[in-house]
Amino acid sequence: MSSLLVDDIGELVTNVPTPGGGPLGLRRDVALLVEAGRVVWIGPARYAPAADRRIDAGGGAVLPGFVDSHAHLVFAGDRAAEFAARMAGEPYTGGGIRTTVGATRAASDDDLRDTVRRLRDEAMRQGTTTMEIKSGYGLTVADEARSLRIAAEVTAETTFLGAHVVPAEYAGRPDDYVGLVCGPMLTAATPYARWVDVFCERGAFDADHARAILTVGQAAGLGLRLHANQLGPGPGVRLGVELGAASVDHCTHLSDADVDALAGSAGADEPTVATLLPGAEFSTRSPYPDARRLLDAGVTVALATDCNPGSSYTSSMPFCVALAVREMRMTPAEAVWAATAGGARALRRTDVGVLRPGARADLMILDAPSHLHLAYRPGVPLIRQVLHNGVPQCRL
Ligand SMILES: [Zn+2]
Repeated sequence: MSSLLVDDIGELVTNVPTPGGGPLGLRRDVALLVEAGRVVWIGPARYAPAADRRIDAGGGAVLPGFVDSHAHLVFAGDRAAEFAARMAGEPYTGGGIRTTVGATRAASDDDLRDTVRRLRDEAMRQGTTTMEIKSGYGLTVADEARSLRIAAEVTAETTFLGAHVVPAEYAGRPDDYVGLVCGPMLTAATPYARWVDVFCERGAFDADHARAILTVGQAAGLGLRLHANQLGPGPGVRLGVELGAASVDHCTHLSDADVDALAGSAGADEPTVATLLPGAEFSTRSPYPDARRLLDAGVTVALATDCNPGSSYTSSMPFCVALAVREMRMTPAEAVWAATAGGARALRRTDVGVLRPGARADLMILDAPSHLHLAYRPGVPLIRQVLHNGVPQCRL
């Protein structure tokens, strides 16, 4: 069995809390051994075992790969003109989703596949080693199923989002569309999906619709996630906590009751994570979520890109970390944790977002001595190498 030693590590972020290492579990003067796609040993560099191959981290920081728990990659076309109009002062309403639905339905499987793989590779070069991918631009039984089938070719974390928006052919008949989502569309999607998600927002799906879809999705064996409280206050966050969702995403407009509900779940075995998506606020020029309020209340917070062609066309987790620090007053350590271990919590994964023996050998090596540089040097391509399942992704 081939082994790979990563050494000359300037700082190792393990996300295994230690007395001196804080919540990131920082360690120095250590090396890390990989075998068969797993971390098998971490210890003092001077005791590093012999290995078949070696990667010299050159004194750079080594972190778990980013876990991007919220992305919409299965689409066709782009909406650059809509972005330009928004930057010129037009408000974001979510209505542009229908533009992408038209282009996606018209696209071939290969076109969709090329886009998914291109964006997945783009994300990987920026350190993302686990990526959730949603459907939601097909909105017919056949198009939702093919979106998930294509997503499942590149990730295990696939999410059925038939309830993204009511498609034009169901205008004025949302109950009929929800019936389709809960019936034949769910049946066609389930073989390719791990999760079910609903865009619970004024103008999309209300709490009754969301509850109906999540309940039948759960009965079909899918885990629950929710787009909630993005554009205004609403029932989504509390509904997600009540139903035991793994994550409620956006959380931009929260009441005290919403924060209390999330904090109340924090002590549970499987808490509901608040996943913040600052790329969406950046790209729609909207106020950012109040991350400090959530963190101070003890809520588990994740960061994700929301990569999609309308409201957040970035695949960059380092960019989201920098936004979280600068605009949402998270500390660099909190932001790095939220983008790695937090994302893993949001996907209920224990094998990623952490570096310890037994974990998947998903990691990144920075051209910088510390995780601080991810926020301190925004926009700079600091990621020199990425290991996914123990396999180096970048040519050195
Ligand atoms: Zn989204």
